[in-house]
Amino acid sequence: MLPEPGKGMLRSFEKNYQDLLDNEALYRGIVDHQAELICRVDCDGLLTYANQAFLHYYQLSVEEIAGLTFPELLPVGSRDHFWLGMKAVTSARPGFEVEYNTEGPSGHPLLHWWIIRGIFDSGRLTGYQASGRILSSDTLASIARLQYTRQINAIYTATMALLTNLDLESLISQILDAAFDAIPGGQKGALHLLARDTGELEMRAALGYQENDPRIKRLNLKDGMNYISRCVRERRPLLIQDMDPENNIDHNTGEEIPEIIRSVLVAPLILGDDVLGALSLESPQENAFNQADLDLIASFAATVTAAIRNAQLHTEVQRQAITDPLTELYNRRGFFEIGEHEIERSHRFSRPLVAMMVDIDHFKLINDEFGHAVGDQVLQQIANRIRNNVRKVDIVGRYGGDEFAILLPELDIFSAVNVAERLRKKVEEFPFQANNQAVRAAISIGVAKIMPDMPNLDALLVRADHALYLAKNGGRNRVDIG
Ligand code: GH3
Ligand code: MG
Repeated sequence: MLPEPGKGMLRSFEKNYQDLLDNEALYRGIVDHQAELICRVDCDGLLTYANQAFLHYYQLSVEEIAGLTFPELLPVGSRDHFWLGMKAVTSARPGFEVEYNTEGPSGHPLLHWWIIRGIFDSGRLTGYQASGRILSSDTLASIARLQYTRQINAIYTATMALLTNLDLESLISQILDAAFDAIPGGQKGALHLLARDTGELEMRAALGYQENDPRIKRLNLKDGMNYISRCVRERRPLLIQDMDPENNIDHNTGEEIPEIIRSVLVAPLILGDDVLGALSLESPQENAFNQADLDLIASFAATVTAAIRNAQLHTEVQRQAITDPLTELYNRRGFFEIGEHEIERSHRFSRPLVAMMVDIDHFKLINDEFGHAVGDQVLQQIANRIRNNVRKVDIVGRYGGDEFAILLPELDIFSAVNVAERLRKKVEEFPFQANNQAVRAAISIGVAKIMPDMPNLDALLVRADHALYLAKNGGRNRVDIG
């Protein structure tokens, strides 16, 4: 049975999860109040969400969308187009557009223009988001007059991409691409995120910079000269139209940086009381940006912030779901998720694979003698010793209370027994320090290798568990083979 995790860690998981829910609410708020019609559908095309504008246009209530597919709402002649488009979505080609002519309630001509994007979670397609605009002939005329420039379209497309991407790395590069498309004056661009551990601004994506540019570095928030640090510190967007040439000097060498920057546009990524980082565009020309560009990047930054936070929280919640909070090893679920892949790989390529079951000897006595808190610390430290004495490719999980499971790819059984012996000695050798007390502990280990007739990870672990039973029965603090 799994032990109760450390209370503090449990709270942190709950807090993260709650933050994720709050952020999704904020996120939904942004989508809910967009003027465009926005809906989400699952992989079968069934509606799972529709924003206010969508519900209003199709005269539906929230309850009524359940059980309805999105293409059903469209003119018969356009439905196949949607189904085919949806089937063709991949992470390499995540979206498509469709437009058709239709009629409004009083019979006047309308144009519907939809952008549909796949929603990906860890590379897997989980549904779609469709965003539509209804254009009357009046708006068509005004569009022509006002020239809905690529700026607006790029921002619009980018916003939709941001709202449907949960993968932080690809999200960040999408953000920069979109900012570039939207504001043509930008010749370089960067996205900095504040690293929580160091408090420094890290450049997480850059466009137009050469690799050896000294400006590509971690920025200290207190750096008075730097415009990105200043923007984050002061929490407001900055427009610099003719930057002091002093800023183009490399302070390490005293020389002028060949690719100078004269214009800057930078917006902080603010979420409540937190600043997550900054999005910046630069140009070697003076007056490359104007006030309208500043307004655009500032409003774009609000969506970007919610999207980044959502992706960060999603990643963290996913990581926590497969991590044991006390030892930071994989929990049982994580171990099985990762481990089954190793079994498949081993069978497919006929590669060796070994499993170990490790159990602390007489752990109850340690708890009884020193108390549960000390027991926890010993458990933690044994987990560390195990992790530090196997290879990076080995998969270590906390299998249960005082039991660990390890998978060792590409190892024959004899080498594996040597590894197990080493682990056993490492635990026995030095006492553990917990609450100023020295606590001696020992482990028993069962080792088993994969056989062609083992269909899954469970089967291999049963053998290793049998070997562990032999080790316990044989006197403990020893290694046996199953
Ligand atoms: P054996 O040598 O047969 O393994 O003896 P044992 O005392 O270790 O017995 P067993 O493995 O059956 O019991 C494991 C004990 O580990 C029971 C439980 O009190 C303790 N335990 C399990 N999880 C935790 C934990 O998270 N923290 C602490 N402190 N103790 C735990
Ligand atoms: Mg035990």
